[in-house]
Amino acid sequence: MNNFKILLLTLVVVGCQNPQTKKTMTTKKIVIAHRGASGYLPEHTLEAKAMAYAMHPDYLEQDIVLSKDDVPIVVHDITLDDVTDVAQVFPSRKRADGKYYVIDFTYKELLQLNVSERFDTKTGKAVFKNRFPLWKSHFKLHSLQDEIEMIQGLNKSTGENIGIYPEIKEPAFHLENGKDISVIVLKVLSDYGYNTKKDNCILQCFDATELKRIRQELKSNLFLVQLTEFAEDNSKLPEFATYADGVGPYFKQLIKKFDPKTGKIAFNDYVKNAHELGMVVHAYTFRADQLEDLPSFDYLLDLAFNKANLDGVFTDFSDKAFLFINKN
Ligand code: CA
Repeated sequence: MNNFKILLLTLVVVGCQNPQTKKTMTTKKIVIAHRGASGYLPEHTLEAKAMAYAMHPDYLEQDIVLSKDDVPIVVHDITLDDVTDVAQVFPSRKRADGKYYVIDFTYKELLQLNVSERFDTKTGKAVFKNRFPLWKSHFKLHSLQDEIEMIQGLNKSTGENIGIYPEIKEPAFHLENGKDISVIVLKVLSDYGYNTKKDNCILQCFDATELKRIRQELKSNLFLVQLTEFAEDNSKLPEFATYADGVGPYFKQLIKKFDPKTGKIAFNDYVKNAHELGMVVHAYTFRADQLEDLPSFDYLLDLAFNKANLDGVFTDFSDKAFLFINKN
């Protein structure tokens, strides 16, 4: 055999063993409605979810925290201070740290609260000044079940098939408070038909020990995404790949070098390495009203999809991401 034939044979053999050949991911770029249409309506309200649904994202995101009576509530933080009037409605129910925790209130009590666009509790001012005005109209908290029923109802009435993308929030905190949030959330998902990777549901969590437990101990067959924060590095990716189908990094974590003067940008090997391990990469969070040094939202989306080679984005502006994908 000559050297060329040996090289070809080696390539074929290596190709067969490469985990990339086993992966099921497609080249389709996906849009995840981050907390609903949160660029336009108060985050995680059913109204924000209905509006997001009409923007045709691939998934609607739900952050999940448990109530005192174990109802999974769709809300971003384990505390209620930044998006509700809890301090006025239940002034005596704060903990020693001055904060009001979702887990200290029953579902019925939580439904008494009014929800607002996110604000800074110190100044009372809006976090995003051009978004929906504070304390206008009438918004409420809701359960994971209510949201799934709305999405599945819309899937029936519109003929679309939009998925859910729940995040289990702070499982260690829940455990300290005597609750196994993953078991409760997995049961609800299963009750509504989300059991396997084909069921249009992606389950996400920042806590790697917990996500691994969800796969190995709780035997979930759902599509799992390991979220990663600022300090994560590529070295953990092989471990994540033993139980997760994808990773969800903070977008800035992928940038090696950026020169705002010239616009020149270089990315690290995170996405490439994750792809080599057969994982998809869905990065967060893409906001048209938080561009920092970048010239436009389309420019940012071009970086995300075409330069960084992401498979999906969590965005507060699904409409703009959907338009970008359709024209590119
Ligand atoms: Ca989230």
